[in-house]
Amino acid sequence: MGAPDRTSTRLRVDPVACDGVGMCAHLAAGLVRLDSWGYPIVAERDLDAREQRRAGQAVAGCPRRALFLDRRDG
Ligand code: SF4
Repeated sequence: MGAPDRTSTRLRVDPVACDGVGMCAHLAAGLVRLDSWGYPIVAERDLDAREQRRAGQAVAGCPRRALFLDRRDG
């Protein structure tokens, strides 16, 4: 019997790299919303497996490579 998986995964955005066009809000609706200038506000919580798949699509679709998944143990 192994130890429980305590890895947390969150979606993060690099605000310097982001151009604010908002593709991510379409690819990960519910995990990303846009502010009044069109810049993303990402969910500040751990993502479940299904959300991680959607977030991964947004990461792959970001033209500026400004989105990433932050995985942490513990
Ligand atoms: S898709 Fe990438 S560059 Fe575009 S708004 Fe989202 S994080 Fe920013």
